[in-house]
Amino acid sequence: MKVVYCDALVVGGGLAGLRASIACRQVGLDVIVLSLVPVRRSHSAAAQGGMQASLGNAKMSEGDNEDLHFLDTVKGSDWGCDQQVARMFVTTAPKAIRELANWGVPWTRIKKGDRPAVINGEHVTITEREDRHGYILSRDFGGTKKWRTCFTADATGHTMLYAVANEALHHKVKIEDRKEMIALIHHGGKCYGAVVRDLITGEIVGYVSKGTLLATGGYGRVYKHTTNAVICDGVGIATALETGVAKLGNMEAVQFHPTALVPSGILMTEGCRGDGGILRDKFGRRFMPAYEPEKKELASRDVVSRRILEHIKRGYGANSPYGDHVWLDIAILGRAHVEKNLRDVHEIAETFAGVDAADDSLETEENLKGMPTDEPDFGPGAPKQKGWVPIKPMQHYSMGGLRTDYKGHSHLKGLFCAGEAACWDLHGFNRLGGNSVSEAVVAGMIIGDYFAAYCKSAELDISTHIVEQFIQKSHEHIQELLHNDGKENVYEIRERMREIMDEKVGVFREGHTLEAAVNELEELYKRSKHIHVKNKKTHNNPELEDAYRTQKMLKIALCIAKGALDRTESRGAHTRLDHPKRDDANWLNRTLASWPDPNQTLPTLEYEPLDIMKMELSPDFRGYGAKGNFIPHPLKEQRDAEIKEITERIQAQGGDRYDLQEALMPFDLQPKYKARNVRLDDQRQGE
Ligand SMILES: Cc1cc2nc3c(=O)[nH]c(=O)nc-3n(C[C@H](O)[C@H](O)[C@H](O)COP(=O)(O)OP(=O)(O)OC[C@H]3O[C@@H](n4cnc5c(N)ncnc54)[C@H](O)[C@@H]3O)c2cc1C
Repeated sequence: MKVVYCDALVVGGGLAGLRASIACRQVGLDVIVLSLVPVRRSHSAAAQGGMQASLGNAKMSEGDNEDLHFLDTVKGSDWGCDQQVARMFVTTAPKAIRELANWGVPWTRIKKGDRPAVINGEHVTITEREDRHGYILSRDFGGTKKWRTCFTADATGHTMLYAVANEALHHKVKIEDRKEMIALIHHGGKCYGAVVRDLITGEIVGYVSKGTLLATGGYGRVYKHTTNAVICDGVGIATALETGVAKLGNMEAVQFHPTALVPSGILMTEGCRGDGGILRDKFGRRFMPAYEPEKKELASRDVVSRRILEHIKRGYGANSPYGDHVWLDIAILGRAHVEKNLRDVHEIAETFAGVDAADDSLETEENLKGMPTDEPDFGPGAPKQKGWVPIKPMQHYSMGGLRTDYKGHSHLKGLFCAGEAACWDLHGFNRLGGNSVSEAVVAGMIIGDYFAAYCKSAELDISTHIVEQFIQKSHEHIQELLHNDGKENVYEIRERMREIMDEKVGVFREGHTLEAAVNELEELYKRSKHIHVKNKKTHNNPELEDAYRTQKMLKIALCIAKGALDRTESRGAHTRLDHPKRDDANWLNRTLASWPDPNQTLPTLEYEPLDIMKMELSPDFRGYGAKGNFIPHPLKEQRDAEIKEITERIQAQGGDRYDLQEALMPFDLQPKYKARNVRLDDQRQGE
């Protein structure tokens, strides 16, 4: 049996994993990064719109700071997030973006003087100050008070990932691609690495390490319609679940992106709406202002997704062979803008929907026929233009994941997690656009350092015999799949799982359909034990891979569906039609899912309370979505009074915003990251 030893094992070579591996090298650890694909093809490369960091450079970002970023993130999460983690994140993000600039990310920069822009459907001119020339520019994104999303056209993830991957190579990180973690090696409540299958040779090898960090990304592929790549299958965190010790957090918190291309599901970035693009119904009416007068198309993603589907349900979707949809109009931004700042989405719309999204010429006036005349709120109709892009909400992001503490440590000692795979928990029940690549890098820095410190001091006190037992068990499982006399077809099971998730665990959820989903998924899980693999090869065998992956994916699907069934409230992206209010009185908590007995067919759920008395921002109206739609926590008034008293006291003492923050909610963070961020306006005040 082959066993490889290292100090630190990082599973996943996207932004989070690679950044964490650099942290390990910075303290001299021997680190190995494993990835299903060449790391530059990790899903981070698909990120389009940008990365949030409160630099406050551009005209529309003036006055931005950590406090506003924090406020937006907590409201975005519908008060589901860990506010201390949110503080750690917003404080580090400006440092992360500058580090990336140093490593070569070609951030789009400010040009002094006038530039055209579209805001709220109107063409306007923005004048950038001369002293800002050359600094990092940012664009508008949903649910934010300031234009905070820094970008490189609409290929932000691509440039970020290449820069971080180059830096990892520069630090001599050992990267091994086409290697799949299929089990974790653990003993006595402690993790010692992973069992890994070589996707080319089929060989099964033990990777033994002092500490292991999972950065395996999201699990969107348990749904049929998703913006996620095929490698986003959730096998990484399912493997952690299978230890019986590690727990998954808030798995029911699944994000649906409002603007996925119909029918392929490829993303049209939020940057389209951030830059001024608008949504239109079949009559060409701009409908979002009627539903969301404050933020319009730029309310948070959960809200916009719901509004689109509600509008389609009223009969205002455009028909297509792939179902009804609405239109995304970015032609309004002008060809020059689309071809420069949204060139990827321009190309994607052309290739996958045959639409030149910059074309504002008339296609037909037929679409105006039958338009109701008694609905002025939805604005005037407009004849259909050639460049309108067909979109509708589809699965996009996993807020849930492997539950960790603020240092990224899971319930299983020695097992850490960062990035989309983790429930750290920055996003609660809804993530803001631009906060994910930002989280991946920031968590790679913060958690990477905590992980490296753990690996430095940990002992490799595991016997070879136990390691061999784990390798043997995985080997036997593969042999079992290849040689059992089962009758089940893996593709039928997987397809049905995905359909159930789309149909019954989607944007709108309801008790009886969720119950049906859980029952059907449980049945599929039982059937998956009898999958018959026709191709008997132990290598180069996609059918075999799909067989063991599907068994794990079903566990993930069950955690999502069961979590959604039991959570009888609506919070962020989790919308229960039968429980439409956010219920802080009963549900201000985080769902934890575990699988302690390998023979059980449903996850075990428990709940971890969120302490309102420690919150910097007590639960309230988000500023968008339905007003007054929550049941207050019994301690809300008490915490509000406390916050008021602390605020008045600090102000009377002449304290600044940092003093106030520290008094309201102290948080732990490495000093180099906690150091105050300096902005151009701060410098001017000090001049
Ligand atoms: C189309 C699209 C556009 C997006 N745009 C934005 C945006 O503009 N801004 C933003 O903030 N966010 C965006 N996101 C979200 C963001 O890109 C991701 O959340 C983030 O990049 C995830 O990074 P990560 O490092 O956690 O995981 P990933 O980049 O997904 O990397 C996962 C890694 O784990 C490896 N892996 C997985 N399973 C295993 C296994 N079992 N064994 C070994 N290796 C494994 C993979 O090979 C890969 O290397 C977008 C997402 C999508 C789908």
